[in-house]
Amino acid sequence: MIDRNDELFDAARTVIPGGVNSPVRAYGSVGGTPRFLASARGAKVTDAAGREYVDLVASWGPALLGHAHPEIVAAVQDAAARGLSFGAPTEGEVELATVIADRVRVGDARPVERVRLVSTGTEATMTAIRLARGATGRDLLVKFAGHYHGHSDGLLAAAGSGVATLALPGSAGVPAPIAAHTLVIDYNDPDALAAVFAEHGERIAAVIVEAAAANMGVVAPRPGLNALIAETAHAHGALMILDEVLTGFRVHPAGYWGLQQEAGETYLPDLITFGKVVGGGMPLAALGGRAAVMDLLAPVGPVYQAGTLSGNPLSVAAGLATLRLATPEVYATVDAAAVRIAASLDRALTDAGVVHAVPRAGNLFGVAFLPEAPHDYARAQEQDAFRYAPFFHAMREQGVALPPSVYEAWFLTAAHGDDDLGAIEAALPAAAEAAARA
Ligand code: PMP
Repeated sequence: MIDRNDELFDAARTVIPGGVNSPVRAYGSVGGTPRFLASARGAKVTDAAGREYVDLVASWGPALLGHAHPEIVAAVQDAAARGLSFGAPTEGEVELATVIADRVRVGDARPVERVRLVSTGTEATMTAIRLARGATGRDLLVKFAGHYHGHSDGLLAAAGSGVATLALPGSAGVPAPIAAHTLVIDYNDPDALAAVFAEHGERIAAVIVEAAAANMGVVAPRPGLNALIAETAHAHGALMILDEVLTGFRVHPAGYWGLQQEAGETYLPDLITFGKVVGGGMPLAALGGRAAVMDLLAPVGPVYQAGTLSGNPLSVAAGLATLRLATPEVYATVDAAAVRIAASLDRALTDAGVVHAVPRAGNLFGVAFLPEAPHDYARAQEQDAFRYAPFFHAMREQGVALPPSVYEAWFLTAAHGDDDLGAIEAALPAAAEAAARA
């Protein structure tokens, strides 16, 4: 019997490159036909053939409260009835910027004094880098191998996410002089950080770093690393850009930065980028930071950035509703679900005799087919990645949708109830057996 997903994928490939609008969706590394989703509610998604799955993708992070939360949907519907887009400032934008600035504070530390809303994480990091260059008058950017910050030209060198999944060194189409402005160093390696600053310190505008890496699988920063990055950058007159597009408002009310401050790791990034949860599933992202740097943005300052749909009223409504609903209890629920599923995953793979680790960073976790959690990209790439495809498909056949790449985190939501978590746990042993046979 022909599956509706197969029909749609065939049709899609005749009109959309690879049949998808974002590469990892194509199942390139796990094989098979991507599920075309028709609807989603709570912890579950339903595909075009009517099959339901417990979802661990959560739209790649945004759905912290679960899919189609009634209050978020109602907020978007209300906003839609008042107009889809104005291209003019709105009251909601002021409210959302204020909420973001107020949430990202721990004690007296308050790194976000100004906020600008954009539509994607890619725009947020791209703008943050331009700002850092404008603020310092320098050109070079330091990034870490395996970190993903979106698809702007200078950030695709040794990037994670789809670039990692497709095992690409970077992207075609990036001019060599632009790529030459990005210095890529190993993650979790203080010596590499010291060396790059020793050699190029006076020309480095910024270091950009995922607050905790989650696009080469989950790779937490070693204790003190983020503080060392801030200290080193500042000692050389460079800025630290903390990329919280994935972690922001997901791992803690104040992001991974907040989690670290509470653990006593204090540091102040100059700019922070947000995305995913902050837009509650609608196209919205943001950058924030010190007023002295942020006020260099046009129209106050000389660094240009703009957007027809920036601060879109539907997106702002979804973001505001999401952050209002994202109470400490929500984080406690997601944290507990992550602890439970990470432990069950670990147990199932151990029972099946599969060499593995379950790397964690806050409530983010995933699987790595290595004896220990990797600390950098080179090690993450040495894993038995071939075990993931059978594991993934065995989970899917049992009604659990995992991210279609071993290099992506598994996303739980506050809507994953005991039944959903139980369904994931019930599926794990057979999937672990499939991974063992690979
Ligand atoms: N930064 C990080 C850390 C991300 O995880 C992502 C997306 N996964 C981005 C930036 C880019 O965001 P977007 O896909 O919205 O452009």
